[in-house]
Amino acid sequence: MLEKIKHDRHVSWWAEFGDTLVVGGTGKSLALTGIPLTSKYEPLTARDLSIVIAGHQNTLPDSVQILARGGRTSLIIKNPAVFTDDHILIQDFKPNTVYAQSGEHNAHSIILTMNQALNAQSAMDDVDAVRWFSDVGTLSNWNRHVSSVDIVSARDWIQEQFLKLAPTSRSLQKFNVRGRDAWNVIATFDAGPTSDVYVIGGHYDSISEQISQSAPGAEDNASGAAGVIELARVFSSRQNKATLIFVAFSGEEEGLVGSKAYVINLPQDIKSRIKSVLTMDMIGYSKDDSEDVLLETASKFKPLSDQYAAAARLVPGLRYFTTFNPFGSDHMPFIDADIPAILTIDNDWGDYPTYHRTGDTIDKVSRDMGLAILKMNAATLAVLTGS
Ligand SMILES: [Zn+2]
Repeated sequence: MLEKIKHDRHVSWWAEFGDTLVVGGTGKSLALTGIPLTSKYEPLTARDLSIVIAGHQNTLPDSVQILARGGRTSLIIKNPAVFTDDHILIQDFKPNTVYAQSGEHNAHSIILTMNQALNAQSAMDDVDAVRWFSDVGTLSNWNRHVSSVDIVSARDWIQEQFLKLAPTSRSLQKFNVRGRDAWNVIATFDAGPTSDVYVIGGHYDSISEQISQSAPGAEDNASGAAGVIELARVFSSRQNKATLIFVAFSGEEEGLVGSKAYVINLPQDIKSRIKSVLTMDMIGYSKDDSEDVLLETASKFKPLSDQYAAAARLVPGLRYFTTFNPFGSDHMPFIDADIPAILTIDNDWGDYPTYHRTGDTIDKVSRDMGLAILKMNAATLAVLTGS
């Protein structure tokens, strides 16, 4: 149906945004298609539109008119307002483009073997939502702005959680954010010198309106950092054929400083063995009763998002969307270094009311949402690592 509408001769251009297909043409021509249109903006043309990537609604000026949103991409009417937030990227609108695709329209060809499906199921069963949620609470009790004193306590606590799992090695990777020390927390479960390597990461630093205000960052990103710890627990007790490296990044909110430092300092031996990287940023918010996840990577790494899509289908009730406009989180330094990496993020993140605010507290985090994404990620890792 979607493809038929796109190719209808009365449609002059189209753009796909998850659940919404935007079509262009004159009112007269579109009426001839018989498509039930939900809104009309005449006489707008494709040239009157722009794309905003990662434009969280809270950070957009009030004058901005959003026509459609899908993934972390919004289609807006061109606006002369000055966009000052560095978490925003503006691009020209390209007609006839899939900006985000819902799972129902995403063709992929991954079929799991019986053994893979069983492994995936047992990994999913091992995810403990209560434990994860409790960890989100623990982390969000600390002000985790990179310049805060408390972030050191969060760092040490994450290290302790890793230590309990008896990894082969663990380390703190120190780097510099505007003259201050910051640390990535790393735990490695080594499966031997020639094994494949998978990296699982998420940032534990946070940000709020002002440096004087606490940054509890429950959704952004205690949810993802606790997710890294939870997946480390799940996989530390499995027979991994691959080496797993779990990283809690810092400095993400200051410009992906921690993940950039991690990628730059990767030893060539490890780098060449990395098969893929999973990052989690904001995995615990749902604006409604349904669980939706966004899978974000570069188009050249579509085979990786297909793997996650196949696993998403194993999680009851989980809808997924895919997008190939990666932006603004810890997957980027890997993608820029040509390492296959994917961001998993709840699909309602753009509606999160207390994004980057001191009110980003545990009461806004949904245990069911986090559980659904963690199950999908656990299932995918079980399939990829053959564990
Ligand atoms: Zn974040």
